[in-house]
Amino acid sequence: MDLLNTLVEKGLRRETPTREEALAVLATSDDELLDVVAAAGKVRRAWFGRRVKLNYLVNLKSGLCPEDCSYCSQRLGSKSEILKYTWLKPEQAAAAAGAGVAGGAKRVCLVASGRGPTDRDVDRVSQTIAAIKEEHQDVEICACLGLLSDGQAERLKDAGANAYNHNLNTSEATYGDITTTHTYADRVSTVQQAQAAGMSACSGLIAGMGESDADLVDVVFSLRELDPDSVPVNFLIPIEGTPLAGDWNLTPQRCLRILAMVRFVCPDVEVRLAGGREIHLRTLQPLALNLANSIFLGDYLTTEGQAGKDDLAMIADAGFEVEGTDTTTLPAHRADAAAAAGSGCGGHGAEGGGCGPCGDAAPADAVTADAVPADTVPAQAAAGATVAAPAGTLESHADLVAVRRRGAGTDLPPNA
Ligand code: SF4
Repeated sequence: MDLLNTLVEKGLRRETPTREEALAVLATSDDELLDVVAAAGKVRRAWFGRRVKLNYLVNLKSGLCPEDCSYCSQRLGSKSEILKYTWLKPEQAAAAAGAGVAGGAKRVCLVASGRGPTDRDVDRVSQTIAAIKEEHQDVEICACLGLLSDGQAERLKDAGANAYNHNLNTSEATYGDITTTHTYADRVSTVQQAQAAGMSACSGLIAGMGESDADLVDVVFSLRELDPDSVPVNFLIPIEGTPLAGDWNLTPQRCLRILAMVRFVCPDVEVRLAGGREIHLRTLQPLALNLANSIFLGDYLTTEGQAGKDDLAMIADAGFEVEGTDTTTLPAHRADAAAAAGSGCGGHGAEGGGCGPCGDAAPADAVTADAVPADTVPAQAAAGATVAAPAGTLESHADLVAVRRRGAGTDLPPNA
């Protein structure tokens, strides 16, 4: 082969791997895992060094959503015993955001449950952005409010939102199995509206919902085409009270392979290790920092993450460093394109395509593919054999899932 050498070389050139190569990464054996991590780690370090960007979630409005996304504890008819509350006041949201910033976060993600915002909701979020930026001028703000209507992306951008998140979540072919109240095309359209308004697009996936390797490759290739600046990789948190509560389909090794595949397909994009890292990667979390250059600090929307101080200790112990506000997250070619498009934080131009144009050289300090072990992937893996476990057949780690009982919407201090 050499599959891994080829993938590293393509990653350094920002060249798209073939579908077969991406499938082969997912089909590697546990014996090959460290070679896969090392190879994808070279691509990660070429574009992002050893920096880790910290992001902080603030759930502005929790639960009571009319949509039926199967993975979500806030969905219509959810039996999950999560916190339920309506819109936080701007000062409450700013206080929660401030805790994240004090903990080292350079981006605050303002999230609200629901199909999409009303114009009044956009006003509320605009006031919240102003309240946060009054205290923290340099912080990046990402809004995540669901499907956008005409003109809302522009209004959010004018209010100071640097980015907009809307995940594709899974492949187009399986989208209808996960959600029936809106479509995959609706999601794509919202990401494109955010891009057209000059915001940095953030769009990712959820692994572990019973999808095949081909589905995972499909959604990641779709993301490459959509060209977000950041790609959150979530691992399903099977929360009691949701239809997917019994879906324990992931091993730590599979999570690492998925992250490596995403890094190879979207080499110069902010790959964010998102929800579910603690419960699925468990003691292998630090290895994932070789693949992702970004994580969420502290808690998630409706579940608790590990303590913020443990996140910071993990980053330091693994030999990485928290990215400061004086550093631009994205490589220069992407950040320059964003500046030309008028985005405030290294975002996407409305005209772009792919994760970045192919053929440009990696930065001068980029590593080469020379040290990647050769011939490490078996023939059946290279042919794209699917090795995912059948749905729900792995050991449950439900004991590791804790519903969030602190931070936004409570009287207790947030985890940051
Ligand atoms: S993911 Fe969003 S739209 Fe879907 S049910 Fe949850 S809160 Fe509602």
